[in-house]
Amino acid sequence: MGFTCPNIDGAVAKGGCVYCENESFSPNLSKEHKIFKLNPLSAENPHLDKQLLQLESQYGRYKKLLAKKFGAQKFIVYFQSYTNTYAPFSTLKALYERALELPDAIGISIGTRSDCMNGEVLEFLRLKKEEGKEIWIEYGVQSAFDETLHAINRGHDFKNAAFWIQKTKEAGINVCVHLIFGLPNETQEMMLKSVESVIDLRVDAVKFHSLYITKHTKLAHDFKNGLFTPMSEELYLDTLVKAIKMLPPNIAVQRITAGVQDDTLLSPKWCYNSHEQKNRAKAALKKAGLEY
Ligand code: SF4
Repeated sequence: MGFTCPNIDGAVAKGGCVYCENESFSPNLSKEHKIFKLNPLSAENPHLDKQLLQLESQYGRYKKLLAKKFGAQKFIVYFQSYTNTYAPFSTLKALYERALELPDAIGISIGTRSDCMNGEVLEFLRLKKEEGKEIWIEYGVQSAFDETLHAINRGHDFKNAAFWIQKTKEAGINVCVHLIFGLPNETQEMMLKSVESVIDLRVDAVKFHSLYITKHTKLAHDFKNGLFTPMSEELYLDTLVKAIKMLPPNIAVQRITAGVQDDTLLSPKWCYNSHEQKNRAKAALKKAGLEY
């Protein structure tokens, strides 16, 4: 969609989060991005028509696939890659509005960073919610510990995440937070404390996964130099079960695993086959009396 990230382009920091595969570490991505990379500081966007076309074509493709695979009839358009509120407001408005007009689309879910949210975007989304649309913001929180956020070069602290989650909830918009287990130097106690902190913020959903390392990242460099060891699957599953048991019934779990199924995955190998990984996670939850 042409979005980038202030944690990569230097507005907040350069290089991005240590686990992020971006153009700082993967020059080929930069070639792709040159097709229509947005300039968030300019109200002008010469690429908007191309972006709208790309949105329509991606939606059409996935709609067909999901209808065939699951019999789905209604859809939520997910703005996933990079930071999907990091663009001039006129661009965001055009893209979100077009997404909400797509056939059988009942809403949108927007993945972003808390330091890229603002009152203008929230007010626009609040009005769409009032019109009856399903509106979600997905914040990459990752951890409630500032020392961890600093270690992963996140570029914002937990206070910032908590502030914008609260503002988003006040606007009546659903909030899903992303948490990563196995971040550098975190104990299980810390991971579960992060879960407790997002429960206290009354979020509506959580997505969990463990930290895995892909080749073209700062983390890959640390891993090769013995500075970082990924968590074991046993510890991840134990943490996942404990975390889900802590959640009140009104908080949904939208994801329990993540990985990458190609040769860019460096470690751990148990994150390779997402299907098998999910089955093992589901079995661990079942053993603990939880269905996913
Ligand atoms: S916020 Fe997302 S896109 Fe930006 S550097 Fe971190 S992982 Fe990458």
